[in-house]
Amino acid sequence: MFSAERFIAERVRLIEASGIRKVFELARQLKDPINLSIGQPDFDVPAQIKQAAAAAIARGMNSYTVTQGIAELHQRIGLGLARELPNWKLASAHGDSQILVTSGVSGGLLLAFLACLNPGDQVILADPYFVMYKHLVTLVGAVPVYVNTYPDFRLTAGKVEPLISPRTKMVLFNSPSNPTGVVSSEKECREMAELAERRGILLLSDEIYDEFCHEKIPRPGSGVTACPSPAAYSDKILLMRGFSKTYGMTGWRLGYVVGPKAIIEQMTKLQQYSFVCAPSMVQVAGVLAMDVDMTEYVAAYRRKRDMVAEKLASVFELVKPGGAFYAFPKVPEHLGMTGSQFVEKAIARNVVIIPGHVFSERDSHFRISYATSDEKLARGLDILCQLAKGKEEKRN
Ligand code: PLP
Repeated sequence: MFSAERFIAERVRLIEASGIRKVFELARQLKDPINLSIGQPDFDVPAQIKQAAAAAIARGMNSYTVTQGIAELHQRIGLGLARELPNWKLASAHGDSQILVTSGVSGGLLLAFLACLNPGDQVILADPYFVMYKHLVTLVGAVPVYVNTYPDFRLTAGKVEPLISPRTKMVLFNSPSNPTGVVSSEKECREMAELAERRGILLLSDEIYDEFCHEKIPRPGSGVTACPSPAAYSDKILLMRGFSKTYGMTGWRLGYVVGPKAIIEQMTKLQQYSFVCAPSMVQVAGVLAMDVDMTEYVAAYRRKRDMVAEKLASVFELVKPGGAFYAFPKVPEHLGMTGSQFVEKAIARNVVIIPGHVFSERDSHFRISYATSDEKLARGLDILCQLAKGKEEKRN
């Protein structure tokens, strides 16, 4: 008898389906929910970027591109990085660092793990973490080692160093953070970069939310104001940035990684045999996107962040987010509930949020995404505050 189950490889059996999808299943039964669970901007791609992609399709930019990404996009990324990170030597193909255009940051993460991690290697990462990290690290046979960052959610060199072992190969750094919205300070970034260099560990800095950073500072040695980054202190790291969140292009699949030439070359080789290249018309539009001013969009998220912090602060223990579009409040202890139980109550009141255990080995918090309209956000926050005070009246 045919059993499809028999064909499933062990490596995928180790991975549970994303807990986010389970919440979406529950939420599907709701009529017009207040959805505070979505991990993408609520604005559409700016019109000029859409036009650039459409024009590229019409012009016939529909074939494979070179694996590393089109020259125009390399130049535009290189220009931005040269302004922002004068400590990096990107000037030519002979520089120490290279750029690879990837199918989203997700594509970059998978290639980096495949290129660098052997089975049994250890990867240090913050708990709570972006959900993909845990599963991709496991998929390649490496072992996640969690830094408990509760209650302030700051990943510091001081917390990482005691966990370094002879098997440690990599540290994952994500600021602004998903799910907490915490932005690492300049000092934390510098100390992390120094620790990685000193102990011979590869630091991977996932900066996909760098545009949505409300704690930008002047970059040392350059005139640019930017989110603090370990890349300002070391060019021996893998720096990943994306277009998905910045321009609302999550479905378009574009990102890039910059890092030491020897690693980027191996990642490029693997991309050749997997993703092949990032979508061609999206690469063309990406060049133009990098010159689109997103200040207004960022300002709108800053206002929403302020609304979240203001409304929740009196009833929840909350670390005020400095960036991304997430907050990670703690379920009040007097309720005696786990994150999952609290989320069930919220869904019963038509508000969709994600339980903390999806991003953590614990289940004491929940994630809010404030990438939604001000009106829905205000209503959702009011309901969460009522629930925190133990008020559970049924929705009408
Ligand atoms: N890294 C983090 C921290 C994210 O939150 C996400 C998406 O949610 C990604 C990477 C993946 O982004 P992309 O759409 O570029 O693959």
